[in-house]
Amino acid sequence: MKQSQQKLKSLMAAYFAELGRASADPNQRVAWCTSAGPAEVLRAFGYHVFFPENHGALLGATRTANDFIPYATSMGYSSNICSYLTSDIGSYLAGKSPLSEAFGPNLPPKPDLLVACDNQCREVEEWFRFFSKAYSAPLHVVRTPKFLDTMETHHLEFMLKELTELVSFLEFQTGVDINHETLARTVALSGQAAAAWRRCLDLAQTKPAPWTFWDGTIHMAPIVIMRGLPIALDYYLHLEAELTQMIASGYAAVPGEKYRFYWEGMPIWGRLRALSDSFASQKAAVVASTYCNSWIYDAFNADEPLLSLAQGYCEIFINRSEAYKENYLIETCRQFDVDGIIYHDAKTCPYNSNTHFALPERVQKRSGIPYIVVEGDLNDLRCFSDEQSQIKIETFIAQVEQSR
Ligand code: SF4
Repeated sequence: MKQSQQKLKSLMAAYFAELGRASADPNQRVAWCTSAGPAEVLRAFGYHVFFPENHGALLGATRTANDFIPYATSMGYSSNICSYLTSDIGSYLAGKSPLSEAFGPNLPPKPDLLVACDNQCREVEEWFRFFSKAYSAPLHVVRTPKFLDTMETHHLEFMLKELTELVSFLEFQTGVDINHETLARTVALSGQAAAAWRRCLDLAQTKPAPWTFWDGTIHMAPIVIMRGLPIALDYYLHLEAELTQMIASGYAAVPGEKYRFYWEGMPIWGRLRALSDSFASQKAAVVASTYCNSWIYDAFNADEPLLSLAQGYCEIFINRSEAYKENYLIETCRQFDVDGIIYHDAKTCPYNSNTHFALPERVQKRSGIPYIVVEGDLNDLRCFSDEQSQIKIETFIAQVEQSR
């Protein structure tokens, strides 16, 4: 995906340069939003939107997180809570960020306000509360019904009320009424980009897969931080065309692909390359993941902008019941025809670690899909052992081979 990689590089540079400019310009507004929060509503009010979790992932990927976590723990934040939170707050306290080093000053941008949606965890609220105080900027929290089995009318009504309150909050902050046409246009763009992102991910159902989970963790950036903007849609249409072309030319992300796996849980940002190389050296392609799929929003619909946002942000995987997750994993693993599931038990994110309530056993019992659990973390590399994980993965692949 050489062309898309180049395009992504310049897209990210332009996006962050614009955020930096907006942060320094008193006539422009910056909002901070959670990664699965209703960014479309903020964009409809003209806010430039920044996502601290994206900054957290950058701290992980650049392996600087462990330099910053102690700053937050020395303030009393436990090292057992989200290491995005501790590394991001630590980075602020240290006054250093790879974002400003790569893309210029005024980054991360100063927020005019912050919007957290609790559909993923409670950490985000505490995280945003810290920055709300630090920057004297108002915080609004969108509440969601939790751990849903099926989406019921009362869930949607509750969430719609929450989003309506968000609109009132933003109208108060900006002094202008919401423009419904702008919101509908933004939701349409977001939905189309999410659909294109889904089609890109689904292309890994091809054997051999043209790309893997490791590639997806890089190329997912626009759907997380630019959804609702035309550039995100344009990007995924481009990526889809390139992947389709690669399939036509017989390209394999893992030459000689012999095994196919599903990754369940958070990426281990500081070990993406090492894990990608390790799987590839064993002719194993990780072809699908819950994580990359988490930014597919099938519900978004320009005819019902607010209601469809209510549905889309309620029905995300992390906010579902164990029974829903079980069915989802079995169905997705069948679609991608995987040989096994790698569950990542992330020490500081129980919400994205689905190994605590016997889900892997139930999935295996019902579907016959074998699994392993890799202990690690999204950012805190003290929780991850390269040697032990390597042995575990090699042993697992050998077992898959034997069972054929
Ligand atoms: S879902 Fe997990 S990784 Fe994401 S913000 Fe919450 S605790 Fe952190």
